[in-house]
Amino acid sequence: MPELPEVENFKRYLNATSLHQRIINVDVRDAYVLKTVTARELARRLKGRRFESSWRHGKHLFVRPDGDLWLRLHFGMTGSLRYFKGQGRTPNHARVLFVFANAHCLAFEDPRKFGEIGLIDDIEDFLKKRALGPDALDISHSQFRDLLRKHRGPVKSMLLNQKLIAGVGNIYADEILFRAGIHPAMQASALNEKTVTKLFRATRHILKKAIDANANVNLMPRSWRLPRRGKGGKCPRCGRQLKSSTIGGRTAWFCAYCQKRI
Ligand SMILES: [Zn+2]
Repeated sequence: MPELPEVENFKRYLNATSLHQRIINVDVRDAYVLKTVTARELARRLKGRRFESSWRHGKHLFVRPDGDLWLRLHFGMTGSLRYFKGQGRTPNHARVLFVFANAHCLAFEDPRKFGEIGLIDDIEDFLKKRALGPDALDISHSQFRDLLRKHRGPVKSMLLNQKLIAGVGNIYADEILFRAGIHPAMQASALNEKTVTKLFRATRHILKKAIDANANVNLMPRSWRLPRRGKGGKCPRCGRQLKSSTIGGRTAWFCAYCQKRI
């Protein structure tokens, strides 16, 4: 599932391939993906324009065409972007194609169909309406500490709650907690000052490193637990078998030795 590092990489990819080119068509191949906009309106409002810039908040990507609107992309479970030449090479799971005057297209691919595309007037309004929390890379140390203090429940469910902090999903939450040496079921409000600081630093560190690794598991540090996630996986620090349990409705993988409940 695309989390903050994946979406940041989609943003960089879009910026590197698709800015400043005239959009000559928007081909909607599967309308489930459209939210609060019809295929006809999407095409009408984007045709003749150019994407000029982009902005990411949490797992959302917003693209600004010349003009006073924003294209909103959410990648759901399996969404991604692909830029290619010639419509004959359209990827199988392309749901929407943005066709440019230079004979290239940007495809929104989404095999499992949980993605979303919409048009909005204002990012701040949208974030407010969805009640999304601050971006996980923008949140300050004191904001982060306050969230933990007020949260009734496990620390992992606080990290996953997009209304508290936007961008962290199941995979990176596990990695962040592993780096900070915190058991995922620890009560958020029970963490002491030192542990809160550790968790805040681990959150920034993991997300930034994952972005630098192009959100590609094979390029991530070997000390990370991510590649070993799953049955039979061993802790990269102590070599013990990783454990799993359900916390906040999601499967957490952790090392019961390195991530103690205090
Ligand atoms: Zn361990």
